[in-house]
Amino acid sequence: MLKDPTYNEIKCLRCFQSFAVSYVKQYCIECLLEILQERLQRYRCRRDTIKWTITNLRTIFLEQPKLQSLFSEMIGHLLGDGSFIVVDYYDEKYRMRRHYYSIRYATSSSKPEDAQYFIDLHRTLFGFEPKKYVRGTAIEIYSTHKVGHIIHCFLPPGRKTIINPKIPPFIYNSSDNMIGCLKAIFKDEGYLYLYTGTEDINLKIDMNTCVSGKVKEELTTFLDANHHQNSQGQTFIYKHHIPPRIMREIETNNRCNVLDDISKILTHLGINHTLNLSRININKQSVTATWVLSINTTEDVRKLQELGIIDLNKMKVNMIKTPTLKMNTRKIGTRIPGTRIQISDDTNELFEKARTKFKSWKELANALKVHPKMLYRYRKGISTIPTLIYEELKRLTVT
Ligand SMILES: [Zn+2]
Repeated sequence: MLKDPTYNEIKCLRCFQSFAVSYVKQYCIECLLEILQERLQRYRCRRDTIKWTITNLRTIFLEQPKLQSLFSEMIGHLLGDGSFIVVDYYDEKYRMRRHYYSIRYATSSSKPEDAQYFIDLHRTLFGFEPKKYVRGTAIEIYSTHKVGHIIHCFLPPGRKTIINPKIPPFIYNSSDNMIGCLKAIFKDEGYLYLYTGTEDINLKIDMNTCVSGKVKEELTTFLDANHHQNSQGQTFIYKHHIPPRIMREIETNNRCNVLDDISKILTHLGINHTLNLSRININKQSVTATWVLSINTTEDVRKLQELGIIDLNKMKVNMIKTPTLKMNTRKIGTRIPGTRIQISDDTNELFEKARTKFKSWKELANALKVHPKMLYRYRKGISTIPTLIYEELKRLTVT
Protein backbone atom coordinates (compact mmCIF):
# COMPACT_ATOMS: atom_id res chain seq x y z
CA MET A 1 0.00 0.00 0.00
CA LEU A 2 0.90 3.62 -0.28
CA LYS A 3 2.64 5.70 2.33
CA ASP A 4 0.77 8.68 3.67
CA PRO A 5 2.83 11.75 2.90
CA THR A 6 1.27 15.18 3.22
CA TYR A 7 1.14 16.19 -0.37
CA ASN A 8 -0.69 19.39 0.52
CA GLU A 9 1.65 22.38 0.37
CA ILE A 10 -0.82 25.23 0.83
CA LYS A 11 -0.16 27.20 4.01
CA CYS A 12 -2.78 28.96 6.17
CA LEU A 13 -3.05 32.69 5.43
CA ARG A 14 -3.81 33.51 9.06
CA CYS A 15 -1.35 31.60 11.23
CA PHE A 16 1.21 30.90 8.44
CA GLN A 17 2.02 27.68 10.32
CA SER A 18 -0.36 24.87 9.48
CA PHE A 19 -1.53 23.55 6.14
CA ALA A 20 -4.67 25.12 4.72
CA VAL A 21 -7.68 22.83 4.34
CA SER A 22 -9.55 25.05 1.89
CA TYR A 23 -9.19 27.42 -1.07
CA VAL A 24 -12.52 29.15 -0.40
CA LYS A 25 -10.83 30.77 2.58
CA GLN A 26 -7.23 29.63 2.69
CA TYR A 27 -7.08 28.66 6.37
CA CYS A 28 -6.00 25.70 8.44
CA ILE A 29 -8.77 23.88 10.30
CA GLU A 30 -8.17 25.67 13.65
CA CYS A 31 -8.22 29.14 12.08
CA LEU A 32 -11.17 28.17 9.90
CA LEU A 33 -13.25 27.12 12.92
CA GLU A 34 -12.56 30.42 14.72
CA ILE A 35 -13.30 32.58 11.70
CA LEU A 36 -16.40 30.59 10.74
CA GLN A 37 -17.87 30.98 14.24
CA GLU A 38 -17.34 34.78 14.16
CA ARG A 39 -18.72 35.02 10.65
CA LEU A 40 -21.88 33.01 11.36
CA GLN A 41 -22.51 35.09 14.50
CA ARG A 42 -22.10 38.29 12.52
CA TYR A 43 -24.67 37.02 10.00
CA ARG A 44 -27.06 36.29 12.90
CA CYS A 45 -27.13 32.63 12.14
CA ARG A 46 -29.16 30.60 14.67
CA ARG A 47 -27.10 29.69 17.72
CA ASP A 48 -27.87 25.96 17.50
CA THR A 49 -26.93 25.93 13.79
CA ILE A 50 -23.57 27.56 14.58
CA LYS A 51 -22.94 25.02 17.33
CA TRP A 52 -23.93 22.13 15.05
CA THR A 53 -21.66 23.35 12.20
CA ILE A 54 -18.59 23.88 14.39
CA THR A 55 -19.07 20.58 16.25
CA ASN A 56 -19.43 18.61 13.02
CA LEU A 57 -16.33 20.14 11.43
CA ARG A 58 -14.38 19.53 14.64
CA THR A 59 -15.49 15.89 14.70
CA ILE A 60 -14.58 15.25 11.05
CA PHE A 61 -11.22 17.01 11.10
CA LEU A 62 -9.94 16.76 14.66
CA GLU A 63 -11.76 14.16 16.71
CA GLN A 64 -12.51 11.35 14.28
CA PRO A 65 -10.04 11.85 11.41
CA LYS A 66 -11.22 8.55 9.90
CA LEU A 67 -14.32 10.47 8.85
CA GLN A 68 -12.12 12.69 6.67
CA SER A 69 -11.88 10.15 3.86
CA LEU A 70 -15.69 9.83 3.92
CA PHE A 71 -16.00 13.61 3.84
CA SER A 72 -13.57 13.52 0.88
CA GLU A 73 -16.03 11.18 -0.83
CA MET A 74 -18.87 13.61 -0.14
CA ILE A 75 -16.85 16.44 -1.74
CA GLY A 76 -16.08 14.12 -4.68
CA HIS A 77 -19.80 13.42 -5.21
CA LEU A 78 -20.58 17.13 -5.17
CA LEU A 79 -17.87 17.66 -7.80
CA GLY A 80 -19.32 14.72 -9.74
CA ASP A 81 -23.08 14.28 -10.09
CA GLY A 82 -23.91 16.69 -7.28
CA SER A 83 -24.47 20.41 -7.16
CA PHE A 84 -23.97 23.13 -4.56
CA ILE A 85 -25.63 26.47 -5.13
CA VAL A 86 -27.05 29.44 -3.23
CA VAL A 87 -30.71 30.20 -3.91
CA ASP A 88 -31.94 33.77 -3.42
CA TYR A 89 -35.59 34.32 -2.58
CA TYR A 90 -37.93 36.91 -1.16
CA ASP A 91 -39.38 36.06 2.24
CA GLU A 92 -43.02 37.26 2.19
CA LYS A 93 -43.48 36.78 5.93
CA TYR A 94 -40.48 38.84 7.04
CA ARG A 95 -40.52 41.02 3.92
CA MET A 96 -36.85 40.61 3.19
CA ARG A 97 -34.46 39.00 0.76
CA ARG A 98 -32.98 35.76 2.03
CA HIS A 99 -30.85 32.98 0.66
CA TYR A 100 -30.34 29.34 1.38
CA TYR A 101 -27.84 26.68 0.34
CA SER A 102 -29.08 23.98 -1.97
CA ILE A 103 -27.15 20.70 -2.02
CA ARG A 104 -28.40 18.19 -4.50
CA TYR A 105 -27.18 14.82 -5.66
CA ALA A 106 -28.78 13.09 -8.61
CA THR A 107 -28.47 9.57 -9.85
CA SER A 108 -30.38 7.33 -12.23
CA SER A 109 -33.34 5.41 -10.80
CA SER A 110 -31.72 2.33 -12.31
CA LYS A 111 -29.02 2.71 -9.64
CA PRO A 112 -30.91 2.93 -6.33
CA GLU A 113 -27.86 1.47 -4.54
CA ASP A 114 -25.83 4.57 -5.53
CA ALA A 115 -28.52 6.83 -4.06
CA GLN A 116 -28.59 4.74 -0.88
CA TYR A 117 -24.80 4.91 -0.65
CA PHE A 118 -24.93 8.71 -0.74
CA ILE A 119 -27.69 8.75 1.91
CA ASP A 120 -25.65 6.47 4.20
CA LEU A 121 -22.55 8.59 3.67
CA HIS A 122 -24.55 11.70 4.58
CA ARG A 123 -25.95 10.05 7.71
CA THR A 124 -22.53 8.89 8.90
CA LEU A 125 -21.05 12.37 8.44
CA PHE A 126 -23.87 14.62 9.59
CA GLY A 127 -26.06 12.39 11.74
CA PHE A 128 -29.29 12.58 9.74
CA GLU A 129 -30.67 11.43 6.40
CA PRO A 130 -31.17 13.81 3.49
CA LYS A 131 -34.50 13.89 1.63
CA LYS A 132 -34.94 11.59 -1.36
CA TYR A 133 -37.28 12.11 -4.28
CA VAL A 134 -37.83 9.77 -7.21
CA ARG A 135 -38.72 11.74 -10.32
CA GLY A 136 -39.15 9.75 -13.51
CA THR A 137 -35.81 8.20 -14.36
CA ALA A 138 -33.90 10.17 -11.72
CA ILE A 139 -33.41 9.90 -7.99
CA GLU A 140 -32.72 13.30 -6.44
CA ILE A 141 -31.32 13.75 -2.97
CA TYR A 142 -31.47 17.09 -1.16
CA SER A 143 -29.47 18.01 1.90
CA THR A 144 -30.15 21.00 4.14
CA HIS A 145 -29.03 24.58 4.59
CA LYS A 146 -26.99 23.79 7.69
CA VAL A 147 -24.89 21.20 5.82
CA GLY A 148 -24.36 24.02 3.31
CA HIS A 149 -22.44 25.96 5.98
CA ILE A 150 -19.97 23.06 6.15
CA ILE A 151 -19.73 22.52 2.39
CA HIS A 152 -19.22 26.24 1.78
CA CYS A 153 -16.01 26.06 3.81
CA PHE A 154 -14.54 23.91 1.01
CA LEU A 155 -16.42 24.53 -2.23
CA PRO A 156 -17.58 27.82 -3.75
CA PRO A 157 -21.32 27.65 -4.55
CA GLY A 158 -22.52 27.99 -8.14
CA ARG A 159 -22.66 26.16 -11.44
CA LYS A 160 -19.54 24.05 -11.81
CA THR A 161 -18.84 24.90 -15.45
CA ILE A 162 -18.79 28.60 -14.52
CA ILE A 163 -17.19 28.42 -11.05
CA ASN A 164 -14.59 25.84 -12.17
CA PRO A 165 -13.94 24.66 -8.58
CA LYS A 166 -10.73 23.02 -7.40
CA ILE A 167 -10.36 19.90 -5.30
CA PRO A 168 -9.88 21.32 -1.75
CA PRO A 169 -6.33 21.04 -0.36
CA PHE A 170 -7.30 18.89 2.66
CA ILE A 171 -7.89 16.04 0.19
CA TYR A 172 -4.09 15.87 -0.29
CA ASN A 173 -3.60 15.23 3.45
CA SER A 174 -3.67 11.46 3.02
CA SER A 175 -3.94 8.70 0.44
CA ASP A 176 -7.26 7.71 2.00
CA ASN A 177 -8.65 11.18 1.32
CA MET A 178 -7.37 11.20 -2.26
CA ILE A 179 -8.72 7.71 -2.92
CA GLY A 180 -12.08 8.63 -1.33
CA CYS A 181 -12.48 11.75 -3.44
CA LEU A 182 -11.44 9.98 -6.66
CA LYS A 183 -13.69 7.03 -5.89
CA ALA A 184 -16.72 9.32 -5.78
CA ILE A 185 -15.82 11.28 -8.93
CA PHE A 186 -15.02 8.12 -10.92
CA LYS A 187 -18.27 6.50 -9.77
CA ASP A 188 -20.30 9.49 -10.95
CA GLU A 189 -18.37 10.54 -14.04
CA GLY A 190 -16.28 7.60 -15.19
CA TYR A 191 -17.04 5.82 -18.44
CA LEU A 192 -15.60 2.44 -19.17
CA TYR A 193 -14.83 1.48 -22.74
CA LEU A 194 -14.29 -2.09 -23.69
CA TYR A 195 -12.71 -2.61 -27.07
CA THR A 196 -14.23 -5.47 -28.96
CA GLY A 197 -11.88 -8.33 -29.78
CA THR A 198 -8.87 -7.19 -27.79
CA GLU A 199 -10.84 -6.79 -24.55
CA ASP A 200 -8.78 -3.67 -23.91
CA ILE A 201 -10.21 -1.58 -21.09
CA ASN A 202 -10.11 2.21 -21.14
CA LEU A 203 -11.54 4.67 -18.61
CA LYS A 204 -12.54 8.23 -19.42
CA ILE A 205 -13.90 11.24 -17.57
CA ASP A 206 -14.99 14.35 -19.37
CA MET A 207 -15.91 17.73 -17.91
CA ASN A 208 -16.81 21.14 -19.31
CA THR A 209 -15.54 24.60 -18.47
CA CYS A 210 -16.99 27.90 -19.63
CA VAL A 211 -15.09 30.03 -22.12
CA SER A 212 -15.78 33.75 -21.82
CA GLY A 213 -14.57 37.17 -22.98
CA LYS A 214 -12.68 37.85 -26.19
CA VAL A 215 -11.96 34.21 -26.98
CA LYS A 216 -15.67 33.44 -26.79
CA GLU A 217 -16.39 36.15 -29.38
CA GLU A 218 -13.61 34.98 -31.68
CA LEU A 219 -14.87 31.41 -31.48
CA THR A 220 -18.42 32.28 -32.43
CA THR A 221 -17.11 33.81 -35.66
CA PHE A 222 -15.76 30.38 -36.66
CA LEU A 223 -19.08 28.78 -36.02
CA ASP A 224 -20.59 29.42 -39.43
CA ALA A 225 -17.61 28.08 -41.33
CA ASN A 226 -16.81 24.94 -39.41
CA HIS A 227 -19.40 23.35 -37.25
CA HIS A 228 -20.83 19.96 -36.49
CA GLN A 229 -23.90 18.79 -34.67
CA ASN A 230 -24.02 15.84 -32.35
CA SER A 231 -27.00 13.57 -31.75
CA GLN A 232 -28.42 15.98 -29.15
CA GLY A 233 -28.44 18.82 -31.68
CA GLN A 234 -25.61 20.60 -29.90
CA THR A 235 -23.20 22.56 -32.06
CA PHE A 236 -19.50 22.04 -31.63
CA ILE A 237 -16.21 22.69 -33.41
CA TYR A 238 -13.44 20.14 -33.64
CA LYS A 239 -10.22 21.50 -32.28
CA HIS A 240 -8.31 21.08 -35.56
CA HIS A 241 -10.55 23.75 -37.13
CA ILE A 242 -9.59 26.32 -34.51
CA PRO A 243 -6.51 28.52 -35.08
CA PRO A 244 -3.56 27.39 -32.91
CA ARG A 245 -3.37 30.76 -31.18
CA ILE A 246 -6.93 30.45 -29.88
CA MET A 247 -6.36 26.82 -28.95
CA ARG A 248 -3.33 27.80 -26.88
CA GLU A 249 -5.37 30.53 -25.23
CA ILE A 250 -8.10 28.05 -24.25
CA GLU A 251 -5.62 25.37 -23.23
CA THR A 252 -3.92 27.73 -20.79
CA ASN A 253 -6.81 29.89 -19.56
CA ASN A 254 -9.80 27.56 -19.66
CA ARG A 255 -8.43 24.45 -18.07
CA CYS A 256 -10.73 22.26 -16.02
CA ASN A 257 -9.44 22.56 -12.44
CA VAL A 258 -11.00 19.33 -11.19
CA LEU A 259 -9.46 17.29 -14.02
CA ASP A 260 -6.09 19.03 -13.49
CA ASP A 261 -6.29 18.10 -9.81
CA ILE A 262 -7.32 14.50 -10.59
CA SER A 263 -4.36 14.32 -12.97
CA LYS A 264 -2.05 15.48 -10.16
CA ILE A 265 -3.43 12.83 -7.81
CA LEU A 266 -3.15 10.06 -10.44
CA THR A 267 0.48 11.03 -11.05
CA HIS A 268 1.05 10.88 -7.30
CA LEU A 269 -0.52 7.40 -7.22
CA GLY A 270 1.63 6.26 -10.18
CA ILE A 271 -1.19 5.83 -12.66
CA ASN A 272 -0.52 6.71 -16.32
CA HIS A 273 -3.13 8.84 -18.01
CA THR A 274 -3.67 11.64 -20.53
CA LEU A 275 -5.60 14.90 -20.21
CA ASN A 276 -6.65 16.71 -23.38
CA LEU A 277 -8.95 19.39 -24.64
CA SER A 278 -11.27 17.49 -26.95
CA ARG A 279 -13.75 19.99 -28.38
CA ILE A 280 -15.52 23.33 -28.07
CA ASN A 281 -19.30 23.44 -27.62
CA ILE A 282 -21.29 26.48 -28.65
CA ASN A 283 -24.82 27.19 -27.49
CA LYS A 284 -26.86 30.33 -27.89
CA GLN A 285 -25.83 31.49 -24.43
CA SER A 286 -22.49 29.90 -23.74
CA VAL A 287 -19.25 28.51 -25.08
CA THR A 288 -17.72 25.60 -23.21
CA ALA A 289 -14.58 23.54 -23.60
CA THR A 290 -14.76 19.78 -23.07
CA TRP A 291 -11.71 18.24 -21.40
CA VAL A 292 -11.11 14.49 -21.34
CA LEU A 293 -9.01 12.62 -18.85
CA SER A 294 -8.25 9.14 -20.06
CA ILE A 295 -6.64 6.09 -18.50
CA ASN A 296 -5.58 4.21 -21.57
CA THR A 297 -4.23 0.85 -20.57
CA THR A 298 -5.84 -2.15 -18.95
CA GLU A 299 -2.84 -2.25 -16.61
CA ASP A 300 -3.51 1.26 -15.26
CA VAL A 301 -7.26 0.66 -15.01
CA ARG A 302 -6.45 -2.44 -12.92
CA LYS A 303 -4.27 -0.30 -10.62
CA LEU A 304 -7.30 1.89 -9.93
CA GLN A 305 -9.23 -1.25 -9.07
CA GLU A 306 -6.48 -2.43 -6.69
CA LEU A 307 -6.48 0.93 -4.90
CA GLY A 308 -10.25 0.65 -4.41
CA ILE A 309 -10.97 3.71 -6.57
CA ILE A 310 -13.16 1.82 -9.03
CA ASP A 311 -15.12 -1.41 -8.99
CA LEU A 312 -14.92 -2.91 -12.46
CA ASN A 313 -17.68 -5.40 -11.66
CA LYS A 314 -20.12 -2.63 -10.85
CA MET A 315 -19.15 -0.21 -13.59
CA LYS A 316 -21.30 -0.13 -16.65
CA VAL A 317 -19.56 -0.50 -19.98
CA ASN A 318 -20.94 2.51 -21.76
CA MET A 319 -19.74 1.81 -25.24
CA ILE A 320 -18.10 -0.89 -27.23
CA LYS A 321 -16.08 0.21 -30.18
CA THR A 322 -13.23 -0.98 -32.30
CA PRO A 323 -10.27 1.37 -32.56
CA THR A 324 -9.58 2.76 -36.01
CA LEU A 325 -6.93 1.15 -38.15
CA LYS A 326 -4.01 3.51 -38.47
CA MET A 327 -1.21 1.29 -39.70
CA ASN A 328 -0.89 -1.32 -42.36
CA THR A 329 -1.05 -4.10 -39.81
CA ARG A 330 -3.58 -6.53 -38.54
CA LYS A 331 -6.58 -4.69 -37.26
CA ILE A 332 -6.28 -4.32 -33.51
CA GLY A 333 -9.81 -5.48 -32.86
CA THR A 334 -9.60 -8.69 -34.89
CA ARG A 335 -8.67 -11.79 -33.07
CA ILE A 336 -5.96 -13.82 -34.75
CA PRO A 337 -7.34 -17.35 -35.18
CA GLY A 338 -5.72 -20.49 -33.85
CA THR A 339 -4.46 -21.61 -30.49
CA ARG A 340 -2.78 -19.20 -28.12
CA ILE A 341 -0.05 -19.45 -25.53
CA GLN A 342 0.60 -17.60 -22.29
CA ILE A 343 3.75 -15.50 -21.88
CA SER A 344 6.61 -17.26 -20.07
CA ASP A 345 10.28 -16.49 -19.39
CA ASP A 346 11.11 -18.32 -22.63
CA THR A 347 8.74 -16.29 -24.80
CA ASN A 348 9.92 -13.14 -23.06
CA GLU A 349 13.50 -13.98 -24.03
CA LEU A 350 12.31 -14.58 -27.58
CA PHE A 351 10.77 -11.11 -27.73
CA GLU A 352 13.96 -9.49 -26.41
CA LYS A 353 16.06 -11.46 -28.91
CA ALA A 354 13.81 -10.45 -31.79
CA ARG A 355 13.94 -6.83 -30.63
CA THR A 356 17.73 -6.71 -31.14
CA LYS A 357 17.19 -7.42 -34.85
CA PHE A 358 15.11 -4.25 -35.23
CA LYS A 359 15.51 -0.56 -34.48
CA SER A 360 12.45 -0.40 -32.26
CA TRP A 361 9.56 -2.37 -30.84
CA LYS A 362 7.39 -0.67 -33.42
CA GLU A 363 9.48 -2.09 -36.25
CA LEU A 364 9.30 -5.54 -34.74
CA ALA A 365 5.53 -5.13 -34.53
CA ASN A 366 5.50 -4.23 -38.23
CA ALA A 367 7.53 -7.32 -39.09
CA LEU A 368 5.14 -9.48 -37.09
CA LYS A 369 2.20 -7.71 -38.75
CA VAL A 370 0.63 -6.86 -35.41
CA HIS A 371 -0.37 -3.51 -33.99
CA PRO A 372 2.37 -2.13 -31.68
CA LYS A 373 -0.19 -1.92 -28.90
CA MET A 374 -0.92 -5.64 -29.26
CA LEU A 375 2.79 -6.47 -29.24
CA TYR A 376 3.04 -4.57 -25.95
CA ARG A 377 0.12 -6.55 -24.58
CA TYR A 378 1.73 -9.87 -25.59
CA ARG A 379 5.02 -8.87 -23.96
CA LYS A 380 3.38 -7.77 -20.74
CA GLY A 381 1.22 -10.86 -20.53
CA ILE A 382 -2.01 -8.86 -20.79
CA SER A 383 -3.03 -10.93 -23.81
CA THR A 384 -2.18 -14.50 -24.74
CA ILE A 385 0.03 -14.89 -27.81
CA PRO A 386 -1.47 -16.50 -30.91
CA THR A 387 0.62 -19.48 -31.98
CA LEU A 388 0.82 -17.92 -35.44
CA ILE A 389 2.66 -14.89 -34.04
CA TYR A 390 4.77 -17.12 -31.81
CA GLU A 391 5.95 -19.08 -34.86
CA GLU A 392 6.74 -15.89 -36.78
CA LEU A 393 8.65 -14.60 -33.77
CA LYS A 394 10.75 -17.78 -33.61
CA ARG A 395 11.46 -17.52 -37.33
CA LEU A 396 12.57 -13.89 -36.95
CA THR A 397 15.05 -14.65 -34.14
CA VAL A 398 16.68 -17.42 -36.18
CA THR A 399 17.13 -15.55 -39.44
ZN1 LIG B 1 -4.14 28.77 10.57
